[in-house]
Amino acid sequence: MLYDPKSHKAEEFINHEEVLASLDYAEKNKHNVELIDQIIAKAKLRKGLSHREAAVLLDCDIEEKNQEIYALAEQIKKDFYGNRIVFFAPLYLSNYCVNGCVYCPYHLKNKHIPRKKLTQDEIRREVIALQDMGHKRLAIECGEHPVENPIEYILESIKTIYSIKHKNGAIRRVNVNS
Ligand code: SF4
Repeated sequence: MLYDPKSHKAEEFINHEEVLASLDYAEKNKHNVELIDQIIAKAKLRKGLSHREAAVLLDCDIEEKNQEIYALAEQIKKDFYGNRIVFFAPLYLSNYCVNGCVYCPYHLKNKHIPRKKLTQDEIRREVIALQDMGHKRLAIECGEHPVENPIEYILESIKTIYSIKHKNGAIRRVNVNS
């Protein structure tokens, strides 16, 4: 499978060989001061880094360089977001899931919980209740289930959420964990 970081197909931008090659590249360059300095200089431009460059910075174990990286990361965070913390209210859409992550009660083999998927009307009511509590940003959550929670269901739910106008307010941002 070809690796294409700009592709919209998961199989093309999540590529096992590329993940291994990036980890190897980072391991080989974690003491490469010249390269690390170049990457830090690029990060200062605030135009983004490639995943391999980010991997090198994450692997770097030169204490002095790490302090530089932390200070720059803090500065960039402040420049973009200011001195504030942004909260997202989680909204569970569906606990149907075909996976088996052992830490999670929604995993397929758990037969002891009722399974539920919110209708668009129920989503509307939940979102209004969250807005009444002052929330403006949501993180919608759902298990992975191609029949119960296909991508169309997620997209329809996002549209529903953004269409809600309540007391002159609206949800500003919906993140998706799925
Ligand atoms: S809901 Fe998410 S974390 Fe839980 S089993 Fe499914 S995929 Fe794993």
